Amino acid sequence: ILEAKAIRKSYLGIPVLQGVDFECAEGEVVCLIGRSGSGKSTLLRCMNHLEAPDDGIVLLNGDVMGYLKRGDHYVGAPERVVDAQRRRIGMVFQKFNLFGNMTAEENVVLALRTVLKQSKSTARANAAAALDRVGLSDRMKHYPSQLSGGQQQRVAIARALAMSPDVLLFDEPTSALDPELVGEVLATMKEIAAEGMTMVVVTHEMQFAREVADRVIVLDGGVIIEEGTPSDVLEHPVHERTRSFVNRFN
Ligand code: ATP
Ligand code: MG
Repeated sequence: ILEAKAIRKSYLGIPVLQGVDFECAEGEVVCLIGRSGSGKSTLLRCMNHLEAPDDGIVLLNGDVMGYLKRGDHYVGAPERVVDAQRRRIGMVFQKFNLFGNMTAEENVVLALRTVLKQSKSTARANAAAALDRVGLSDRMKHYPSQLSGGQQQRVAIARALAMSPDVLLFDEPTSALDPELVGEVLATMKEIAAEGMTMVVVTHEMQFAREVADRVIVLDGGVIIEEGTPSDVLEHPVHERTRSFVNRFN
């Protein structure tokens, strides 16, 4: 469903991604781990074309992100086409980025109204359904300041889910949370995974990776150094760098 081929990206001449190949099948949960600066966020941003790769392509359901096929070559896609493609890929960040002057419900409704152009009543019904999926039916009328960090992150997840994306990308969704709030967010993500959502999750939560991931990928210095089932990668790492990373977060 989502595929990256030979992705390269440099900033100011410094290579950050050095030829990354990545594939995620429908319904699959892939956890992406690796040291700080290994290129995890950059890879996620390349996937929804928030960042254009210097080289290589990203395919979503066979369509090249950011480009249109013209005969036998590709041309840069107009912004509205890229926007339409991005809509198919939901993203949840470390910081929840909710509007503080809007309730949980209004935050979700806004995205549906502006991005998907839904009618008020349709948007409200979809927002209610999404907030229900993350267990926040009783908090719809609360403002972010009246919600815990974990609840705010679940609102952000509901906002992404409500758009019915083909795939959801998570960039360290629990690393800004107090330790006691991490569990509820991971539990919500686990439920969404069980419902069949395709997910790519950058995380340091090894327990989550062990329980939920179908596949774990280790990025180091802009290349994939190890990839496999959670048991292969986390219990029997081949690479020394994987071993030291996993031990640190276990
Ligand atoms: P972390 O675990 O700390 O979030 P990461 O694996 O997500 O790390 P990236 O954010 O992808 O790593 O960054 C990889 C490298 O690219 C880092 O050295 C970073 O400083 C650099 N980098 C990222 N974004 C930019 C940018 N916009 N301009 C310049 N350098 C950047
Ligand atoms: Mg990052």
